Amino acid sequence: MATEYTLPSEWKSALAGKCPRCRKGNMFKAPLLSLRSKKMLDHCPHCGLKFEKEPGYFYVAMYVSYAFVVAELVSSCVATYVLTGNLESPWLYLSVALGMSILLSPFNYRYSRIVLLYYLTPQFQFKEEYYLGKYRDN
Ligand SMILES: [Zn+2]
Repeated sequence: MATEYTLPSEWKSALAGKCPRCRKGNMFKAPLLSLRSKKMLDHCPHCGLKFEKEPGYFYVAMYVSYAFVVAELVSSCVATYVLTGNLESPWLYLSVALGMSILLSPFNYRYSRIVLLYYLTPQFQFKEEYYLGKYRDN
């Protein structure tokens, strides 16, 4: 059966912080670049999915976040070396690394949870019925 609507892609929905199951409701209360960016919704406003699958589930996101931080630190230190050619002062690298991790912490916080729910939680697969609003959890 041909569909008359286009489904949002997984990549785009993940980037926009949409619910992994219906790709319509938001996961967070506010956009990434706002002061309230850390406020996450408990349930998807569109399909009612409970984002924190079980108590403490988001602790797993810390491991994802850890991988992000390592990647960011390595690339920011390599970039610092390429740009400055510095091999003398460890303080330069230390301050760049510290600055990067502070600057990127809202990004890490949000996207570690998104990666967890999208790619590491098989139960939260996209379901077209939920996208269309045919079903809804309470
Ligand atoms: Zn949803």
